[in-house]
Amino acid sequence: MKKLAAGNWKMNGTQASLAEVTALLEAHPDPACEMLLCPPATLIAAMAALARGTALMVGAQDCHPKPMGAHTGDISAAMLRDAGATHVIVGHSERRIDHGETSALVKAKAEAVVDAGLTAIVCIGETEAERDSGKTLAVIGTQLDASIPGGATAANLVVAYEPVWAIGTGRTPTLTEIAEVHSFLRGRLRGLIGAEAEGVRILYGGSVKPTNASDIFAVPHVDGALVGGASLKAADFGAIVAALSAA
Ligand code: PEP
Repeated sequence: MKKLAAGNWKMNGTQASLAEVTALLEAHPDPACEMLLCPPATLIAAMAALARGTALMVGAQDCHPKPMGAHTGDISAAMLRDAGATHVIVGHSERRIDHGETSALVKAKAEAVVDAGLTAIVCIGETEAERDSGKTLAVIGTQLDASIPGGATAANLVVAYEPVWAIGTGRTPTLTEIAEVHSFLRGRLRGLIGAEAEGVRILYGGSVKPTNASDIFAVPHVDGALVGGASLKAADFGAIVAALSAA
């Protein structure tokens, strides 16, 4: 299995930000891991043009569950593919919380991604209150069961474990806590999709930085990272790519 360093630019970036992509590709033209950036939808086509013929893949941060129709402001998975995306993040906690997205909707979006021939990055994660009350595994197990697409395979599904309280806070779970969750998720995936589970990348996300990346990547069943803030700067994301390549 090739590991995956995925960056989520969230609602950040304009055409000028593409200079970071040029710098990233200059510094890391041929990493040993897969490298993906998910810019805002407005930058997908331009970033994909820049990435053509390079090791960089380009993804999106969300999609509509339907392939087309009267859905003002929304974008379908097929449209994202047409713009050059190969992956789509679905169920990020900022969408689950800010937009009230349920696991049922996340699953419908993930299935739309797969139907469009793309790879779904399905995000799950507990809140701080859920962790403090000992419910982490129950919460993420339920989210996983209800969010992954039917017909999931190692090729069309990536799972991102992102504790809500670790996103953008500079706080992370301990390495033991990350190990517990990732091993639990591998087992849960085996129950859901059988042998395909061995090849599904399970990413850790939440305050991954150049300074903690190597330690996190040494944890069993951590197959890469979903990186927010640190993916905006080529130097930081490149250092994370290098750490994953060396893991
Ligand atoms: C994220 O939002 O997916 C994320 C992991 O953010 P950050 O790396 O900034 O914590």
